[in-house]
Amino acid sequence: MRPELLNPLFVPVSNLEGIGPKLTKTLTRLFHGNENADPARIADLLFHIPHSVIDRRNQPGIANAQEGIVSTFKVTVDSHNAPPRGNRRVPYRINVHDETGEMALVFFRGQSDWLSKAMPVGETRYVSGKVEWFNSKPNMVHPDHMVSEEGYAQLPLLEPVYPVTAGLSSKVMSKSIKTAVETLPAMPEWADHNLVKREHWSSFNAAVERIHTPRDTLDLEPNAPARRRLAHDELLAGQLALALLRMRLRKSSGKARIGTGSLISKLIPIMPFALTGAQTRSVQEIGNDLAKPERMLRLLQGDVGSGKTIVALMAALTAIEVGDQASIMAPTEILARQHLASLQPLCDKIGVTIELLTGKDKAAKKRETLERLKSGEIDLIIGTHALFQSKVEFKSLGLAIIDEQHRFGVHQRLTLGDKGDATDVLVMTATPIPRTLVLTAYGDMEVSKLDEKPPGRQPIQTNALSSERLEELIARIYTAVQHGKKIYWICPLVEESEEVQATAAEDRFKDLQSRMGQENIGLVHGRMTVDEKNQAMADFKEGITRVLVATTVIEVGVDVPDATIMVIEHAERFGLAQLHQLRGRVGRGSEASHCMLLYYNPLSETAQARLKIMRETEDGFRIAEEDLKLRGEGEVLGTRQSGTPGFNLAQLEHHADILEMARDGAKLIVETNPDLEGEQGEALKMLLYLFGQDQAVRLLRAG
Ligand code: ADP
Ligand code: MG
Repeated sequence: MRPELLNPLFVPVSNLEGIGPKLTKTLTRLFHGNENADPARIADLLFHIPHSVIDRRNQPGIANAQEGIVSTFKVTVDSHNAPPRGNRRVPYRINVHDETGEMALVFFRGQSDWLSKAMPVGETRYVSGKVEWFNSKPNMVHPDHMVSEEGYAQLPLLEPVYPVTAGLSSKVMSKSIKTAVETLPAMPEWADHNLVKREHWSSFNAAVERIHTPRDTLDLEPNAPARRRLAHDELLAGQLALALLRMRLRKSSGKARIGTGSLISKLIPIMPFALTGAQTRSVQEIGNDLAKPERMLRLLQGDVGSGKTIVALMAALTAIEVGDQASIMAPTEILARQHLASLQPLCDKIGVTIELLTGKDKAAKKRETLERLKSGEIDLIIGTHALFQSKVEFKSLGLAIIDEQHRFGVHQRLTLGDKGDATDVLVMTATPIPRTLVLTAYGDMEVSKLDEKPPGRQPIQTNALSSERLEELIARIYTAVQHGKKIYWICPLVEESEEVQATAAEDRFKDLQSRMGQENIGLVHGRMTVDEKNQAMADFKEGITRVLVATTVIEVGVDVPDATIMVIEHAERFGLAQLHQLRGRVGRGSEASHCMLLYYNPLSETAQARLKIMRETEDGFRIAEEDLKLRGEGEVLGTRQSGTPGFNLAQLEHHADILEMARDGAKLIVETNPDLEGEQGEALKMLLYLFGQDQAVRLLRAG
């Protein structure tokens, strides 16, 4: 149970004064990915840090105001010039002065009731905003603040500016956060005392307060003490949770699974290809782990198309050879089916019983599968997260393989490991992630890398073209269809809503149909049923359709080797990792492939950099490193999109040293106080709960 002290932070934001249902929804969308997720909590607000500060300390006097610089003035209100009735184009003007000169405050569509109340003639007011000079007269268009003497005392002269989202102003955000900070109870000190001393850190509470009420523009620098302190706390919570998880896995002793080779030796002659060097090495590394009496916890990293599936099968066969079962869990049903389709023919030939389990199975079929799993008749089960359910029992699960594509959490990995006796765990990710991120996401985990593509692959030629060339592009696609090519057409990412995204795909679908004929074009998006999606995929695979218009639902693992062209519309909206994942859908066969990044101007600097990197390289490891540099680490891991509480406070590109500290700190804690006892232990439990690492505390109890 979460300590009571923290409860006020984990209630929905709607508990705060001034936050109604509408704002709650907006905040939920911002923090948790979509409106219908669990409502945003007060803790989310606390950990939402400003991206910059507006400095309002500059008070030069009207006559000395500089163009375009935020400044604050103490003024007397002289007169109001309301626009003539009915003429909305003339702005409302308020004339003010100070001892140095006169200025006009300008309001387009100004509400005269409100303005005359806020700025009564003859009164003193403080106004703050950017000054613009027209014909040597100073104007302030829509001041950021207009406050009385008392209001000025409250006004932060260093105003934090927060990342916001559609339908949410920075002002409302600031106010909500301010209220949230007031509800923060005094936290105990969980950080190592020597570290706190050495780094000159203040308490957690003081650091939170400092971030949201900066006293210096430097307070928001990643290396400001308050920022470092909070980054440390966040990273320590993560590292400690992972260290506890690992300790537990180590404690429950494993089983030495020494493959006999009886199945692998049957597989090799019927495999349609020889393993690459990287595959051979990974298979060996996994085999060595399986043969050890400790439990395996290994990560298999390999770019899209690097051939993880066969490595997974060989690992599974090793477990099956010694009489255990194996499971492969995929993030989506489409992918699970695809795994089944590619593995079934091989399994059938070597006498391995393989079966599929998804949430969509009919009750009778599901019951039967569950029974056959329990009796041990099924050797290899492929499934979705349905495999996690408690009614899924194995006779003896020896190896749990999780094809993660960064959609699952540590907690789920563990639950699956718990399904068997001394189950070994292999996690596969398609996004090659830099070493620091492996550490934050998985802790000290063994890593195998598939850094070599299967032979015969042609490089994918990548071009970026602006939307002005859309017609030309469509003509080229049309020709390609005539030549029997298969094309993916990816529709723009719309972060706010899946619905809008689906609509965009439907529009493009109809548009292409009207140009190229109905029968050629297929459509797949997130709002279709699983059956509809499967049908659309199957049609495309078989060549019944030639162009598949799709949203990012196909980002994950779809395999149509003879699809050779990919168009990504509004490529500037996608992150690097995502572009890379998408592009990986082509270039899977022996034919030359093309990827067209269709962008709409204006391009931000980051977007330009992303498109450039995409044109330059196909190396997922390099792309991952570049991505880390260009964006926050949360996005590399895909956590920001999926709304998993990732890293809000730590920025690994600045805080790598703190990550090391946190890792060492966590190690020491697990060695010296593994059950988190005593005063320090209680404080650390508080830290874990605060950062949403509840499952780690639950582990302690489970022993
Ligand atoms: P990943 O899961 O890593 O994205 P897959 O396992 O789906 O990649 O493999 C991609 C494609 O490459 C599949 O069609 C697979 O049959 C093929 N493949 C895998 N390994 C090899 C290899 N060593 N030589 C040739 N083709 C291979
Ligand atoms: Mg795969």
